[in-house]
Amino acid sequence: MRIATSTLLLLTFTGLAQAGSIELGLPIVCEIGKTCWVQNYVDHDPSPAVKDYSCGGQTYDGHDGTDIRLLNTVSKADVIASASGIVKGARDGVADNLMRSEADRAAVGNRECGNGVVINHEGGWQTQYCHMRKGSVVVKTGDKVETSAKLGEVGYSGMAAFPHVHLTVRNNGKALDPFGGKPDGGESCGAPKNPLWNASAQATLNYNKGGVIQSGFNPAAIELAGLETGALPQQNLDSAWPAMVAYAWTINLARGDTVTVALRGPDGIDATNTATLDRNKAVYLLFAGKKRPAGGWPKGNYIGSLTVSNEGELRLSQEWRATLE
Ligand SMILES: [Zn+2]
Repeated sequence: MRIATSTLLLLTFTGLAQAGSIELGLPIVCEIGKTCWVQNYVDHDPSPAVKDYSCGGQTYDGHDGTDIRLLNTVSKADVIASASGIVKGARDGVADNLMRSEADRAAVGNRECGNGVVINHEGGWQTQYCHMRKGSVVVKTGDKVETSAKLGEVGYSGMAAFPHVHLTVRNNGKALDPFGGKPDGGESCGAPKNPLWNASAQATLNYNKGGVIQSGFNPAAIELAGLETGALPQQNLDSAWPAMVAYAWTINLARGDTVTVALRGPDGIDATNTATLDRNKAVYLLFAGKKRPAGGWPKGNYIGSLTVSNEGELRLSQEWRATLE
């Protein structure tokens, strides 16, 4: 009788321990900060305002997951299981289409997740992966998957304005932030509590106040749409360029950031463009450039630069160089 009782107690405590914890790997195969970036965190603010786990604004109202993005629509990466479990559901066949208009959003209907997979884990945990590339989903309902098993490829199906995987983590049906933090975002600013990421994922997931996802030179003014679709690849300087433009494509800049992009070249070539942001910018493009001088572009070294500062704090600084032979 005594043995039976202690066995029961042991089972109960073991059960509690399992229900309380899960360790998650990254849901994507990529290098954070180099080939992929966290574009949006979970929104902890119940009002129409927003607050990520670190009390920044790198989210949007009601966002219940973590968005890890690729550079542009021609970038590729696999989506993988963050933990082992059983596939509860999978959908494929939804077209990849960047959301750029109300008509685009209306066409998505109730398939906001696009091509997605839901996995049930032990202890009432569940993970959901959204926006995979059409035709790429390789698992089906009932499949048993191990941690890091391929589920599909990153795409932009469903309600997606950029190529990314959206990961929602739930426990007993309630969405949680894998970065931890209190649900109201209150006192946890800068000190996330009990992140669900495993050690190797955690090591790569630093919170940054803004980031540069691409910088370079271009022979003309730049539009974001061209960068988003890979239509403006990085290229070598050419003496025939009608203009010389240095550009920086950034993410997660904040209200009050002062952004400066400059172009410097031989023979005193110098152009600067500065802007101070009146609201948070999930994505922001700034460039500075010159038209070709009468005698053509002089040979030598050209330098592009970006700085982002806010209230005396230098948040971002980057230089990029190219030589005209
Ligand atoms: Zn999302």
